[in-house]
Amino acid sequence: MKNADILIIGAGAAGLMAAYALSKAGKRVTILEARNRTGGRIYTLDDAFFLKYAELGAEFVHGDLPVTLQLLKEAGIEMTPAPLGEMWHYSNDKFSQEYQHPDDWNLLIQKLNKSKQDTSIGDFLQQQFGDEQYAELRKSVNSYVAGYDTADSFKASAFALRKEWQSQDQHTQHRIKGGYRKMISYLANTGKKNGAQLFLNTVVKGLHWGHSLAEAVTTGNVSYKAEKVIIALPLGVLKADPYQEGTINFSPSIPKYREAIGQMGFGSIIKILLEFRDAFWQDEHVVKLAGNDLKGMSFLLSDQEIPTWWTQFPNHSTVLTGWLGGPPAEKKKGLSNEELLQRGLQSLSNIFKRSLQELNDNLIAWKVANWTTDPFARGSYAYDTIAASAAREILNTPINDTIYFAGEYLYNGPAMGTVEAALASGLEAARRLI
Ligand SMILES: Cc1cc2nc3c(=O)[nH]c(=O)nc-3n(C[C@H](O)[C@H](O)[C@H](O)COP(=O)(O)OP(=O)(O)OC[C@H]3O[C@@H](n4cnc5c(N)ncnc54)[C@H](O)[C@@H]3O)c2cc1C
Repeated sequence: MKNADILIIGAGAAGLMAAYALSKAGKRVTILEARNRTGGRIYTLDDAFFLKYAELGAEFVHGDLPVTLQLLKEAGIEMTPAPLGEMWHYSNDKFSQEYQHPDDWNLLIQKLNKSKQDTSIGDFLQQQFGDEQYAELRKSVNSYVAGYDTADSFKASAFALRKEWQSQDQHTQHRIKGGYRKMISYLANTGKKNGAQLFLNTVVKGLHWGHSLAEAVTTGNVSYKAEKVIIALPLGVLKADPYQEGTINFSPSIPKYREAIGQMGFGSIIKILLEFRDAFWQDEHVVKLAGNDLKGMSFLLSDQEIPTWWTQFPNHSTVLTGWLGGPPAEKKKGLSNEELLQRGLQSLSNIFKRSLQELNDNLIAWKVANWTTDPFARGSYAYDTIAASAAREILNTPINDTIYFAGEYLYNGPAMGTVEAALASGLEAARRLI
């Protein structure tokens, strides 16, 4: 039995930020982390045989994010701009650079603006644009919601998406020099210097709690006790059926909170990193296909099985990153990493008219991050359902002054589903406890 003032379960951005702030305020903090590393959905590779600091999880800093920027400044960590560059599209066997909203997009926005009652965007489209003539619009919106929000359009709130589409400013994106893990290391090391204790390879399976008493029990049957606990787990883990790997059994149970967890949306994602000997998408052969060279390409959105790809623009690099989100990722989550790699290469083969053999020969290294089957993540990040804001309010209310929740899904602001959201939520949980 090991005692602390505050237990934190989960050493992702939210849990570590809470530990950092609490330990700074003089609290005795113990962090329990299931994996053999900190960072959770932040996972920067530092592999000598691969792109230096490849990000298997979070990669970009999306705009002016107060908590992230303040933390990076304090830690003396630099960022490099990752401007949008050229956004290319490939569909129906054609390349184009101009993004065009699908036909009837303006009509969709008009109807959404007039709508008084929230539904899922999928249901909204069925009701308002169910005719055959709108098939392209439905397809296009569904694949956007799957790709960008990693969400199921039959669960995602139409009003939340309306807000997202109206406020899409073209903020500058950045990457972190040395990768996001630098920020994670800073948080973990500063927390430890302030006395926080961190236990890796420690999977919590049960939480017994009463007023000002929390006892976490691990799969190795070790018990950790404290007056308060912060549950900084991914929403996907909290949503999973009890007794699956990674899940926590609360005793006494917390039905109102379980219901709220069930009402929130959590997406699916598979990220594929490929490093080639040469950047074949920049050669003469492609100029003939696209009518231009793709040296300035940052993103490529396509109608292929693995639809979204990006480069390391503006840095010259021979790495391509593939992205499959939402229901299509959920459907394919059971495929092996090798099979997912081949599906990625097949998509590139179709787009760039290179044989699969040629691409396999050109490939130096690859990684598939199947976050959807990862037992300690079980998906990508949160999205808003119709019931999400009420559910979030419940989950942001501590239970009996003893159990506090933290994580990206609890953040109430414009940077949903991001590292900023996780940091802000961790900080908020710590503030409540100080
Ligand atoms: C592929 C991908 C790309 C992304 N891209 C971006 C991006 O470019 N920019 C951006 O800002 N955000 C991005 N995000 C989102 C961002 O990574 C997350 O919002 C953020 O990292 C979540 O932090 P968190 O602390 O809430 O959860 P997590 O990082 O998931 O931390 C939760 C921790 O709990 C641990 N845990 C789970 N179960 C147990 C248990 N039973 N016992 C003990 N510990 C347990 C986990 O191992 C994990 O360390 C991306 C996410 C993914 C998956």
